[in-house]
Amino acid sequence: MIVGVLALQGDFAEHINMLTACGVKAVAVRYAADLDALDGLIIPGGESTAVDKLTDDGSAPIFSAIKKKISEQQLPVYGTCMGSIFLAKDIEGSKQGRLAVMDVKVRRNAFGPQRRSFEADLAIEALGAEPFPAVFIRAPLITECGADVEILAQLNDGIVMARQNNLLVTAFHPEITGDLRVHRYFLAMVAAHKLQ
Ligand code: GLN
Repeated sequence: MIVGVLALQGDFAEHINMLTACGVKAVAVRYAADLDALDGLIIPGGESTAVDKLTDDGSAPIFSAIKKKISEQQLPVYGTCMGSIFLAKDIEGSKQGRLAVMDVKVRRNAFGPQRRSFEADLAIEALGAEPFPAVFIRAPLITECGADVEILAQLNDGIVMARQNNLLVTAFHPEITGDLRVHRYFLAMVAAHKLQ
């Protein structure tokens, strides 16, 4: 199994380390051709407005290629934080560039600025009984989702982890904890897709 991590901006190195710790071959993805060999892709945390600037209004080959892989081959993709914003169809009050493949609406910086970043122990039933040590860094919230979207975790009343078919998003950053369970959950999605 080979899983790529979009390596244009953000904390891609941490995701590569997590995938390696899970025993999976992880590669940095920078060009459209890098997608060919992949069984799955992670879009890391970072700054969505910076990534927006790299999309050339959606025409940059890497972005059209990711979008095509998702729509035509149902490539499993996991977006953390910025990655979740980039996958969303709707971003509250913003026209910034995005892949617009997941039927969710997100609110950027929903908890406030950087200094309001925090950690919380989250109950995530899909990962077992032990709470997940979730790190929120200028995190978004999912404020609305379509009927196809499964809500996997909430913090107070906000949605912070969700899945729609082969797309997974978390508002938090498991890649900077030692807990491999979210990555393993995604890898199970990748493995199931590979068998199809
Ligand atoms: N606030 C950032 C954005 O809107 C996301 C922060 C993150 O990925 N940690 O793009």
